[in-house]
Amino acid sequence: MEAKAQILVVEDEQGLVMTLQDRLTEESYAVDFATDGLSGFEKARSQSYDVIILDLMLPKKGGLDICRDLRQDGIHTPIIMLTAKGQVVDKVLGLKLGADDYMQKPFEMMELMARIEVQLRKQERTSRQVEKGTVQFGDVTVNFSKGDIMKGGEKVSLSAKEFQLLRFMIEHEGIILSRDQLLNEVWGYDALPSTRTVDVHISWLRQKLEDDKRYPEYITTVHGLGYKFVKSHLT
Ligand code: CA
Repeated sequence: MEAKAQILVVEDEQGLVMTLQDRLTEESYAVDFATDGLSGFEKARSQSYDVIILDLMLPKKGGLDICRDLRQDGIHTPIIMLTAKGQVVDKVLGLKLGADDYMQKPFEMMELMARIEVQLRKQERTSRQVEKGTVQFGDVTVNFSKGDIMKGGEKVSLSAKEFQLLRFMIEHEGIILSRDQLLNEVWGYDALPSTRTVDVHISWLRQKLEDDKRYPEYITTVHGLGYKFVKSHLT
């Protein structure tokens, strides 16, 4: 049977590792494990996974560092963080550093399975829509194959860079993207523009696509960290 998805588990608690292995395999996931932070980071960076389950407290390299470094390297695989009881501050920090979800130990396996499904569906939805050619948010329709954009029935014209920036953000829906990352991914490593260029283009996109650019609903700012595309606050 073909695996539903590839999952990497980075966890040092032997008991939990065994339980996760049983349960994830039972759910027809292909599972890979790392029991310390350094090997987990290397695996996450060198292989392609659909979801990473990442423990916060790990030998050699902590979960928060792994999360931050992966995002900085341009790896956007959804990450579900596992935190020990009472690590609320870490949870907030984890989400800020680019984790997509978190779960506090001890958790119900069913709950974790549901959260994995959510991450997989989110990815599928976006990639399917981008592939199919159209993405919708609010009264905006972006047709990637034709390269045109409508807002409230009216055609919106974007520059090539604005279009590339929007596309990159939509493809990484729900993920915090730093200015440096956007600059590297959209403008390229050799580009001369400063991160200020990113801010200016974001502002133009907002002006063209948001109802009120001062209160953006889709192209959002994550204070001190960067920008995040959010398609809907309801899903
Ligand atoms: Ca641990």
